[in-house]
Amino acid sequence: MPKPSIPQESNTLGPLETQINTLSGLVEKGRARSRFPARFEAEFVNHRLNQVLNQDLRIIAAGLIVFLVFGWADFYFGGSRSAFMVSARMLLTGGLFIALFFIPRSRLRHQGYPLLVVGIYTCMLLLCWNITQIKVPLAYFYHSGMIPMQVFALLALRSNYRAMLACSFLMLFTYVIFVVMLPPVDSPDEIDRMAYAILPFYLLFWLIIIAMGGYLSFIIESGSRTDFVKNRLLALEAERLQYLGRKLQQLSVTDSLTGLFNRRYVEERLTDEWRRCSRSQEPLSVLMLDVDSFKLYNDFYGHQQGDVCLKSVATRMADFCRRPGDVCARFGGEEFLILLPETHKDKACELAQDICNAVAAMALPHSQSEHGVVTVSMGVATYVPDPATGYESLLREADVALYRAKDRGRNQVCCEGAGGQI
Ligand code: GH3
Ligand code: MG
Ligand code: MG
Repeated sequence: MPKPSIPQESNTLGPLETQINTLSGLVEKGRARSRFPARFEAEFVNHRLNQVLNQDLRIIAAGLIVFLVFGWADFYFGGSRSAFMVSARMLLTGGLFIALFFIPRSRLRHQGYPLLVVGIYTCMLLLCWNITQIKVPLAYFYHSGMIPMQVFALLALRSNYRAMLACSFLMLFTYVIFVVMLPPVDSPDEIDRMAYAILPFYLLFWLIIIAMGGYLSFIIESGSRTDFVKNRLLALEAERLQYLGRKLQQLSVTDSLTGLFNRRYVEERLTDEWRRCSRSQEPLSVLMLDVDSFKLYNDFYGHQQGDVCLKSVATRMADFCRRPGDVCARFGGEEFLILLPETHKDKACELAQDICNAVAAMALPHSQSEHGVVTVSMGVATYVPDPATGYESLLREADVALYRAKDRGRNQVCCEGAGGQI
């Protein structure tokens, strides 16, 4: 259970730096353009998919509308088959629109690219089917429709060159097989002979479009990979700076030996609480704690053991600072201070007595002390702060009470200072 009275530690720098090093390594080795290590690859794929599902959805929807608008051709060229062809086109487009609406909202969204490929390929298959429904030369219109299909595949899949190439070659190979399997035209006329003559060039141009499109989408994907790495690095660097800032702030208020707050921090809090309690006219209490005969302890057990002893006393003392506003700090040397806002004197004295008893109960051996164990003396002071004065009078009061406790034989609490307010 974290204690609000002592500075909180957190260590998130290690994993952050590992990520920064991995990404910087990618940039330095010029590998920010190619496939990343598994973890970043998964992040990138997700990021790219989000882009497709958020931004490119409009392009895909526009493509579908264009596909639907070309239904006029079915109507115009289809003759007796036109109603059948238009219905098939509307049915397919409607299905794809529904898929476009639901897939980004479902678990299938992770399969966004393969599904997009399937969608484009299905539209292309419909074109092939259309070719079988009407006679040449009107069917050539649908043959030329393969090119807008291919251009759409380039556009929709431009950020993933593998998916783009897979879709394009799938369409090209399907088309080649389809054309080979088409029944030959009886007694071909001039226009059919011309169509057969330009077919190899048509396929060659298609192949060139795929090659150029593949190169273009490779460049686009590489660019977005590099941007992703750089943006990720910037975000991680910002996070690192924030962490270091927090750490620095934490270090500036922490006592390095005990891990409690330091004097600077408690003085800042005293100023704030003095103002706050003077506004609300609530009592503000301080407990001043000093380890008894600690010079003798150091002389006998050594300075290092003295440090261990101070840590133990500090940890035990911190156990008693339970409320969020309580501040437990090392004030200097073997002196500690506990700040208790909105706490009446009797409560503060009670708490001081508990701490004093708890430290003695730890029974840390101190052969040079009259008590035989490590003990502490404590002075308590409580003021309802006066906004016209500073908190120094409160500390002086606690200090006087502390030295009274020392005078009275140590290992005890004194709640009477120089005649303070409460
Ligand atoms: P009293 O009961 O009257 O408080 O006697 P004391 O010996 O505790 O008081 P004194 O002020 O004479 O001695 C305080 C000692 O605390 C002296 C110093 O060496 C020791 N001390 C202060 N800071 C540290 C510290 O960080 N580590 C260790 N080990 N000792 C410290
Ligand atoms: Mg002292
Ligand atoms: Mg002392």
